[in-house]
Amino acid sequence: MIKDNVRKILENIPKDVRLVAAAKTRNAQEVLEAIDAGIKIVGENYVQEAESVYEQVGRKAEWHFIGHLQKNKVKKAVKIFDMIHTVDSRGLAGEIDKRCRQSGKVVSVLIEVNSGREEQKSGVKPEDVPSLVSDVSKLSGIRVMGLMTMGPLFGDPGKSRPYFVETRKVFEKIGLAGMPGVEMKYLSMGMSNSYRVAIEEGANMIRLGTLIFGERE
Ligand SMILES: *Cc1c(COP(=O)(O)O)cnc(C)c1O
Repeated sequence: MIKDNVRKILENIPKDVRLVAAAKTRNAQEVLEAIDAGIKIVGENYVQEAESVYEQVGRKAEWHFIGHLQKNKVKKAVKIFDMIHTVDSRGLAGEIDKRCRQSGKVVSVLIEVNSGREEQKSGVKPEDVPSLVSDVSKLSGIRVMGLMTMGPLFGDPGKSRPYFVETRKVFEKIGLAGMPGVEMKYLSMGMSNSYRVAIEEGANMIRLGTLIFGERE
């Protein structure tokens, strides 16, 4: 089941779009099955859950952190993750930088954009992204590689389009500005119900859970 799902998705997305298997609540067995079928990136939302899956899966895939990262989890997170999609404050970036420098690592990060400008959601408002990118790019333990957004969640994926468009515009604007140490390479947006629209609007990294592993319990 998981294998068929992965193969079907990989056949149907453009070759330059990177697929992240969003693995929250899934066990190592399920994740290994997805990797066998061609998954190269595993996305996790919780550090503790990731640790137990990681123990069994190891470096058979790249590990991306896609949840909300608490500062007290950063030390453990930088041991596992190659990329953190959800940097949305100078404080969090500073903590990641500190822990990376302590362990002689450089971690790739995306800046999370609160494209829906929703009070209760994480991410920075689109207009605040360039200055955060500029500040974070000065930290030697971090490499800024793009932007991520969730956008408000709708049943109808078409409703997500304006939020994806706005995020892509910020992405392009920062890319054109040519900030030193900033590579606007990855635009991470689109989930199981919205990934087609996201790709149409410029996503080159999509995060799929349900479509790969089935409904979560
Ligand atoms: C769970 C999750 C996804 C995947 O959601 P599905 O609807 O199951 O595809 C993508 N991104 C993030 C940040 C998530 O937490």
